[in-house]
Amino acid sequence: MAGKQKRILVAGGGGFLGTHLCRLLLEQGHEVFCVDNFSSGSRGNLEHLEDFEKLTVLEHDVTEALPVKSVDQIYNLACVASPVQYQQDPIHALHTSAHGVNNLLQLALKNNARIFQASTSEIYGNPLTHPQTEDYFGNVNTIGPRACYDEGKRYAETLCMDYQRVHRVDVKIARIFNTYGPFMQPEDGRVVSNFIVQALLDRPLTINGDGSQTRSFCYVDDLIAGIHALMSSPRAVSGPINIGNPGEFTMLELADLVLELTGSSSKLVFNGLPKDDPVKRCPDISRAKRLLNWEPKVTLREGLEKTIAYFDDLLTHASKAQLASAQWSGNFQADKSRKAVS
Ligand code: UDP
Repeated sequence: MAGKQKRILVAGGGGFLGTHLCRLLLEQGHEVFCVDNFSSGSRGNLEHLEDFEKLTVLEHDVTEALPVKSVDQIYNLACVASPVQYQQDPIHALHTSAHGVNNLLQLALKNNARIFQASTSEIYGNPLTHPQTEDYFGNVNTIGPRACYDEGKRYAETLCMDYQRVHRVDVKIARIFNTYGPFMQPEDGRVVSNFIVQALLDRPLTINGDGSQTRSFCYVDDLIAGIHALMSSPRAVSGPINIGNPGEFTMLELADLVLELTGSSSKLVFNGLPKDDPVKRCPDISRAKRLLNWEPKVTLREGLEKTIAYFDDLLTHASKAQLASAQWSGNFQADKSRKAVS
């Protein structure tokens, strides 16, 4: 392996991004401590890693002091990221960001460890500039239903920079834009997983609002490469740095592409637009290109094809009980028979 083997703690390692990151670090030969409370992450997400002897999985909530004492690097990905899910327990979501980052920064300080903070495009709220550069301060409703996530992440950025100024902790902050790919949960509630699952089951695609709102979707492999490039950059590069794909699509365009790629005949149904749902979102990634020599490579079409194949396999092997479970019932019908997409 290139470089020295490190002891690396990945908080939120059982989540969608975490499981991809753990694999990369294990393949590089590092010792990985995956810490997760499995509220939105899943143990199933880690099954593909069970042959790696250097993986330790610890069921633990980052709002409590960490069970690992000696580390070289820390990645903080711990927080429920889906609006539907974090709004089910907004207080815990806020505490996860606030207390979690504090506990992890304390650990970084004690170990003189480099720490990565997964920040978010939600820092920009419903942005009034477009595309969003890192020096835009954002437009966040501090008392709205999304604030538990947005403000938690803003607090985390602030605390990271204060630990850097006061204690000289080596921090790295990425603002992650919408990401998709294998290991998203079918019940996640995000638009990409919802549309794919709905299309595969010939259920109506649920469009919020009139579908003209935009998002910029980054395939997970590109995102993980960006995070890793930031974590490997010189100490002076602490960010924040936008990591995302600047290809911008309306939700109607996304729905059309999912229908085309799945060959589904699902119809569209239109629901109300959730409160404070951003109208536009697109990253300016000039800083990432310049400082990290990073930019995404996977087109939305290519990434969706891979993601659809993943969900198709997942649904083909899902039991009737899973399809009928309360969590999955938003997207599934228990008695729905379906054919695999070829
Ligand atoms: N959305 C949608 N249908 C769904 C789920 C989400 O139209 O079934 C919309 C949602 O209102 C938002 C966009 O898709 O405008 C992206 O939502 P997501 O939750 O994936 O990400 P975020 O809002 O956090 O960017």
